[in-house]
Amino acid sequence: MDAIAAVQVLSEIGYLLRQNPNEVYRARAFSAAAWTVALERPNLDALFKDNKLTSIEGVGEGIAKVLVGLIETGHSTYLERLRAETGQPARDDESSIDLGAYQGDLHSHTDWSDGRATMLEMARGAKALGYKYLGVTDHSPRIKVVNGLDAERLLAQSREREQVEQEIDGLALLQGIEVDILEDGSLDLPDAVLELLDIVIASPHVKLRQEPSAMTERMMRAVSNPNVDVIGHPTGRRPGSREGATYDFEQVFREAARHGVALEIDCDPARMDLSPEHARLALELGCTFALDADAHAPAEFAYVPMGAWMARRAGIPMDRILNFKPLEVLTMTAK
Ligand SMILES: [Zn+2]
Ligand SMILES: [Zn+2]
Repeated sequence: MDAIAAVQVLSEIGYLLRQNPNEVYRARAFSAAAWTVALERPNLDALFKDNKLTSIEGVGEGIAKVLVGLIETGHSTYLERLRAETGQPARDDESSIDLGAYQGDLHSHTDWSDGRATMLEMARGAKALGYKYLGVTDHSPRIKVVNGLDAERLLAQSREREQVEQEIDGLALLQGIEVDILEDGSLDLPDAVLELLDIVIASPHVKLRQEPSAMTERMMRAVSNPNVDVIGHPTGRRPGSREGATYDFEQVFREAARHGVALEIDCDPARMDLSPEHARLALELGCTFALDADAHAPAEFAYVPMGAWMARRAGIPMDRILNFKPLEVLTMTAK
């Protein structure tokens, strides 16, 4: 049993459990175990043979039982039961995602805003995973609690980027921003600043409970901005604790497709946004996607294998996902 295949099963179980308020703790336990397996990639068959699956940190008897089922049969009856109970059964038109072809993550944070690691540490983490590029996308000024970056600090950050890039061979750092989508759909930095950046991720963070019609206008304006490359965690939801924004998804996704703006599947287990259902709708409307960890520390890059099942479930082929494209293609696609 391939560790990454097991990660995706444990992670999906965590996701489905999150939808039941009584299962919050169990959900977190499955997500945490998935994360450990994603980071450590243990030899599950060997551990099973030695009856040592519970030696994996965070794997108790219950989770070990799921792993045993996976190793013995290749599937999880527990997952199948949860899928049936939550009305989200497997579909026969799922895509296959080869994470070995993953070229780089477009959305990450450093200690320039609310990340917990330096740019150099993040770059080393990305390089260790074999990434060819990493989007350094800290927050914009409006997010004051996290020390968001204005034009002046972005310029200072660009100098550090050059230094780090020289130090880490073979990894391109894309200088970017995660710019806040303000209530009226304008962005938290002027176009003159955004157009200088390699990558602009525009994300809704506050006032997510706006009237759907106002929220639709807000998102329509954001996807129409020619400097925007990706819409980050497009609903802002937190499964199990916060419902995301509601808007005319069809209208906004159609507009995103028209402008070549990618929609993110944010793989942070606390977000998992877009949901597989919304991602499927976006796929049908012609959108492209970004499959990102939104990492705030190097260990969080492992969120990508934890979230990849969502893209698979939505039926998204790899050629619609920016992260599988080489840097040259990516920079040509970026506006
Ligand atoms: Zn964000
Ligand atoms: Zn972020």
